[in-house]
Amino acid sequence: MATTFSPNPSTRLSPPPPLAPLAVPARLLLGPGPSNADPRVIAAMNQQPIGHLDPAYLEMMDEVQNLLRYTWQTTNPLTYAVAGTGSAAMEATLANAVEPGDRVLVAVKGYFGHRLVDMARRYGAEVVTINRPWGEAFTLDELANALDEYRPAVLAIVHAETSTGVRQPLEGLGAACAAHNCLLLVDTVTSLGGVPVLLDEWQVDLAYSCSQKGLSCAPGISPFTMSPRAVAKLERRRQAVANWYLDAALLRKYWGPERVYHHTAPVNLTYALREALRLLAEEGLEARWQRHQQTAAYFWSGLADLGLTCHVEESLRLPTLTTVRVPDGVDAKAVSRQLMADYNIEVGGGLGELGGKVWRIGLMGYNSQPKHVDTLLQALGRVLRQAA
Ligand SMILES: *Cc1c(COP(=O)(O)O)cnc(C)c1O
Repeated sequence: MATTFSPNPSTRLSPPPPLAPLAVPARLLLGPGPSNADPRVIAAMNQQPIGHLDPAYLEMMDEVQNLLRYTWQTTNPLTYAVAGTGSAAMEATLANAVEPGDRVLVAVKGYFGHRLVDMARRYGAEVVTINRPWGEAFTLDELANALDEYRPAVLAIVHAETSTGVRQPLEGLGAACAAHNCLLLVDTVTSLGGVPVLLDEWQVDLAYSCSQKGLSCAPGISPFTMSPRAVAKLERRRQAVANWYLDAALLRKYWGPERVYHHTAPVNLTYALREALRLLAEEGLEARWQRHQQTAAYFWSGLADLGLTCHVEESLRLPTLTTVRVPDGVDAKAVSRQLMADYNIEVGGGLGELGGKVWRIGLMGYNSQPKHVDTLLQALGRVLRQAA
């Protein structure tokens, strides 16, 4: 007789109709992220998981930490990868840096600045903001004046604002923050692996990034680091970090020599990130920055040939993410849809204030190659001629 699992089997849900095996379309991802992963990263990921306390895994964790320090140009002992996307690492910086009542100054010049404001408030910060129009950057003077005026415990700013394509210069800001006894928190999500990021030289105290943009890895594991000054504030806290999962005081015991279990690490993503960072180290940071700059310059000149203009002035333009102005009378979404449908190319649309006004084109990591620029420009030219 068959075993009965429920007193009333007739109430169980029946399985959905059988599905075909998974078929992932081949896309060229030239939007704001994710970008295509390097095939070597996919191969590394595509192996059996091992235990998160396996000696082989612990060794991998050390390797990832060292590679992250190189990638970020920092000697911070507290440097590791958060199990989650860039937003989790973003939240980790605020959760660990902010105690309720701390004043946090956020320099907002795009969508991700607003996300920092939202997150900081949720951790009980008294948030103050300064603002620039979408497409511009702050000057050092503006930031230093705001430090004088507001005396914040933390200044949070996005290095590479993916919503606008602006690179925020950071030279000198860390020294100004240190002089005001303020921690400098920087979003390097769309800069790491494509644009110079020199955390120690710039005296950055907290930083985070993601895996799926400039590092050409799959999404889901995210670089995170705290300077000794930021760790000292963490150690002085009167209250525990409000987010258990992201608490660096607990996680440093897993990533450090004690190896205290916290949560099950995403081991396959660690394989992937290790390979992505190994690729970066093989290429070398300087060569990688050069490649991104050259590929972007090639793209920008091709855009000009098509009669298209960039939203951001060249000196502040990110090589990893370009905002291209949508010509008058052109339906931005229709063009994006056609690029996907006819050419398998993904590009991003405008966010927030720039909705409908720009396309966001990413040339990040593995995808920063002239041949992809050629493919995109040819497709975009054809689609725009049809639309005219
Ligand atoms: C993509 C992005 C994030 C969020 O990262 P996710 O991996 O999507 O969670 C945060 N900040 C900036 C500047 C980004 O571009």
